[in-house]
Amino acid sequence: MSLSGKTAVITGSTSGIGLGIAEELARAGADVILNGRGDRPENHDLARDIADRHGVTARFVPADMSDPEAARGLIEAAGGCDILVNNAGIQHVAGLPDFPVEKWDQIIAINLSSAFHTTAAALPGMRARGWGRVVNIASAHGLTASPFKSAYVAAKHGMVGLSKVTALETAEEPITCNAVCPGYVMTPLVEKQIPDTMEKYGMGREEVIREVILERQPSKEMATVEQLGGTVVFLCSPAADQITGTTTSVDGGWTAL
Ligand code: NAD
Repeated sequence: MSLSGKTAVITGSTSGIGLGIAEELARAGADVILNGRGDRPENHDLARDIADRHGVTARFVPADMSDPEAARGLIEAAGGCDILVNNAGIQHVAGLPDFPVEKWDQIIAINLSSAFHTTAAALPGMRARGWGRVVNIASAHGLTASPFKSAYVAAKHGMVGLSKVTALETAEEPITCNAVCPGYVMTPLVEKQIPDTMEKYGMGREEVIREVILERQPSKEMATVEQLGGTVVFLCSPAADQITGTTTSVDGGWTAL
């Protein structure tokens, strides 16, 4: 399957799942725009490396997804896009009464509102070119909940809802929008949760991974960033032309429980 000639913007793609998705889209021939908050030289190096290895055009465009203007500006700086992957996301874990207001606002802005802004900015160009794919990286937490993750779970359920609305508003056009719902994937986002959990339960690292983090993931294996990238490539393929407004779980059986 070739995505040659298509341009993909992947928000929050300097590490983890976003970078894995950029890699697989480039492997399929798409030109890619990487994004992260800070304009660091190593982020431009990541783009150069992808371009060199896959023979595509790759650029890093800094833009803070917590800022609506910057989120819309990313699409403008990309010159529009054929494939939009809304992936940027952060996490904070605290009980409701103690959940810091600024963390709530930040999570809703980055994990949910940025996807509204980028999608609004990208759709006119997709319509003009007559083809488009929007893939929203939600989570198993877009379909189920866990305690202490109020903002994250609310934002991810919101991503699933936004995906359905985007799908309905584009249903008669060659544009699709779907949400992908990963279970646990070992990335910096998950890595950051391990020390606190070790302390909270008085457990070692491996025990925390298997007994706490993967407790609800029946496969007892983390999904990989390559699997997430492959799922997005599939959703951009002709086989997925009639797949829109859905959620695709990549969660080792979590949401089957
Ligand atoms: P990660 O921390 O490795 O990557 C997050 C990315 O978002 C980074 O590239 C970071 O630079 C970027 N980012 C953070 N704040 C930003 C901002 N203000 N502006 C622009 N970019 C910003 O995390 P990850 O695990 O790869 O997560 C990627 C997505 O996948 C997130 O939406 C996350 O909620 C979702 N997800 C992850 C898992 C998991 O187990 N890792 C599971 C389900 C869903």
